[in-house]
Amino acid sequence: MDKRDYYEVLGVAKGAQEAEVKKAYRKLAKQYHPDANPDNKEAEAKFKEASEAYEVLSDEQKRAAYDRYGHSAFDQNGGGGGFSGGFDTDFDMNDIFGSVFGDIFGGGGRRRPQGPMPGADIRQTIQVTFEEAAFGCEKELSVNTSETCSTCHGTKAKPGTSAATCGKCGGTGQVRVTQRTILGAMQSVQTCDACHGQGKIIKEPCVKCHGQGKVRANKKVTISIPAGIDHGQTLRVSGKGEVGEVGAPNGDLLVTISIKPHQVLERRDNDVYMRMPISFMQAALGGELSIPTLDGNVKFTIQAGTQTSTTFRLQGKGIPNIRNKKYRGDQYVEVYIVVPKELTEKQRNILREFEAETGDQTEESKKGWQNIFKKK
Ligand SMILES: [Zn+2]
Ligand SMILES: [Zn+2]
Repeated sequence: MDKRDYYEVLGVAKGAQEAEVKKAYRKLAKQYHPDANPDNKEAEAKFKEASEAYEVLSDEQKRAAYDRYGHSAFDQNGGGGGFSGGFDTDFDMNDIFGSVFGDIFGGGGRRRPQGPMPGADIRQTIQVTFEEAAFGCEKELSVNTSETCSTCHGTKAKPGTSAATCGKCGGTGQVRVTQRTILGAMQSVQTCDACHGQGKIIKEPCVKCHGQGKVRANKKVTISIPAGIDHGQTLRVSGKGEVGEVGAPNGDLLVTISIKPHQVLERRDNDVYMRMPISFMQAALGGELSIPTLDGNVKFTIQAGTQTSTTFRLQGKGIPNIRNKKYRGDQYVEVYIVVPKELTEKQRNILREFEAETGDQTEESKKGWQNIFKKK
């Protein structure tokens, strides 16, 4: 059988750079590695062929000889008379595997949990209004997630093919490893590195999902937000996360609530706070105020002589308790007196008249505080 050209084997051009050669080999080695293709003679042959090509093309000296004499450069029976010694028998596979497979096969030290992998959780934040958080609502979320591949139905294998039982571990996902130590031979059980503990090997991966068993998908998820939810709280929507492998559950969707600040109302736990501006006249004479609440405007009468910072409570006008919405917090309203900044001549005259009538300057502002600084 004629040997294929080494450049052709790796699928690179004659003048290809070292990095390009390595990249091409990594790709082929991953594809045809015997651990990933147990009992597959064709893959084994391809793997050997690629390894041989790489061994020559990655070595400057051997590559130069090959470029000049072709395969005969390594022909032990002579002929070309170029590079002698034939195909190196001490070619260190571990060197290549260390660099090529270290990231994929995990070097045996890392262990993965047994069996099919459950889907990962997805975290997302949603903004709701003050009222929506208070009384609950339904929201549709667009979730960037995954779904089971419709071509292979999550089996990861090309339709018509199926996963083969791993030849290395016989499908158990575990292998016994005997190590020689100064105390004698020690046996330990490790996750099978050929199948990563899955017990099965996919020979022909599904083309659509590249053997992942799942594909990216944008899904609409409607979530029910309970009355009384607070800012920063997280809802768990079971099974709406990333899709799990066949036989394993999906991940969950974790939705964190962000409440938009309200124009007037402020929330502390289940109580609602607000500040209500009133005029000097309203404070002095008393009167009816219209107070905004979660249940709409509510009338409240303040007494004559209400001072600034007086706080009154509207019972049951707060936020429903998340566990039982029959129980609601209260609303606290703090009044403050707004002093007019600009006055007309007429208004000023009326106020002067009022001042003359009442002598309305506070004692403290007229005389200062008496005897609060004790002199020694
Ligand atoms: Zn698929
Ligand atoms: Zn295995």
